[in-house]
Amino acid sequence: MSRVFIRGGTVVDETGSRRADVLVADGAIVAVGQALDVGGATLVLDAGGCLVAPGLVDLHAHLRQPGGEEAETIETGTRAGALGGYTAVVAMPNTEPAIDCASVVRDVLELAEGATAAVYPAGAITVGRSGRQLAPLAEMAALGVRLFTDDGAGVQDGRLMRRALEYASALGVTLAQHCEDDRLAAEGHLHEGEWSSRLGIPGVPAEAEEVMVGRDIALARLTGAPVHFLHLSTAGSIELVRSAKAEGLAVTAEAAPHHFTLTAAAAAGYDPVFKVNPPLRTDADVAAVRSALADGTIDAIATDHAPHPAEAKELPFDQAPPGMLGLETALALGLGELGLPAAHVLGLFSWRPARIAGVAHEHGGPIAPGRPAHLCVVDPNAPWVVDPDRLASRSRNTPYAGRTLTGRARHTVFRGEPVVIDGEAQR
Ligand SMILES: [Zn+2]
Repeated sequence: MSRVFIRGGTVVDETGSRRADVLVADGAIVAVGQALDVGGATLVLDAGGCLVAPGLVDLHAHLRQPGGEEAETIETGTRAGALGGYTAVVAMPNTEPAIDCASVVRDVLELAEGATAAVYPAGAITVGRSGRQLAPLAEMAALGVRLFTDDGAGVQDGRLMRRALEYASALGVTLAQHCEDDRLAAEGHLHEGEWSSRLGIPGVPAEAEEVMVGRDIALARLTGAPVHFLHLSTAGSIELVRSAKAEGLAVTAEAAPHHFTLTAAAAAGYDPVFKVNPPLRTDADVAAVRSALADGTIDAIATDHAPHPAEAKELPFDQAPPGMLGLETALALGLGELGLPAAHVLGLFSWRPARIAGVAHEHGGPIAPGRPAHLCVVDPNAPWVVDPDRLASRSRNTPYAGRTLTGRARHTVFRGEPVVIDGEAQR
């Protein structure tokens, strides 16, 4: 294994910031301090002007394997993740077949063995994500699964969700909800409001999300079980979570970069690249997501990286599948668009999601001797232009094509090995 010397950066982690070099050997951090001695045959990574942070942790990526390999694979998705600064990715279970039992969890873990980031499969809450029968959570938890969700769909049946929460609580795992009331959202493709009217596209009201957030807060209170809310997108949802947290309930929440950078107005040209679920909302919703990321109501930024092949995204707006790429652009949007201190933003991307994912023993921890060496070296001031043809993802459906972003992962170190050097994937 390599000895890697990260020289001249500012180390930023949960304990604070300090100028320090970092020496890594045999997969672990061995020394952190000023003017460390490089020693023997060591690969030196320049970190001048950069932040050296724990690797990023994505709570929400669709890696599409098994079954969706024309859109993404674990190999291409984790390469995109490494380029984005991620060393850990929670893989959503809406695959084909769904990750709803031990054998599929094992398949995903096996596919992830040579990947350039750690892959933590999320398990489905119900068999086949069909919302009818509880999945065998215990056998998946026994393989290390810590987060369960039917993402792509919300669990509609309140009684089943209550039972799932009681079961999850006993197992010490967390349920994550895609908050969408099927009946309220039915036939909608865009946020219900000014732009759905102007474009003549049926809308999804904010309330389709908010009624499920409200119900699950009530169920968290009833059962005492933790609930994580995926990709919150409306001011009303955020207000519900803010008061649930004030009450002391064990709720956490994430937001995706497109929900703090884009509104429904982006769909004015009927381009399905701007179709996503939950949909792009209003300026007021964007402002609410931003202030919730600032005040801690939203705990983490998650990508909801959702690759789709070009032919699917070339369909008419109402027929195209929802979803956008995220892994390679998320960090720059967080650093460049929120107006928050870099250390706060890195917390939203690393140590806070690591705790929600149940992987804090491995990822997101303080940069200190003895800790696993999963690191990213971030140049917070580097400008770059998003070129879909240069993304590592197998798909091209980024809504930021042609945009100049500020901030980029320069080097990524996973299990002590540099998997990205100067913005280039090493394998
Ligand atoms: Zn979802």
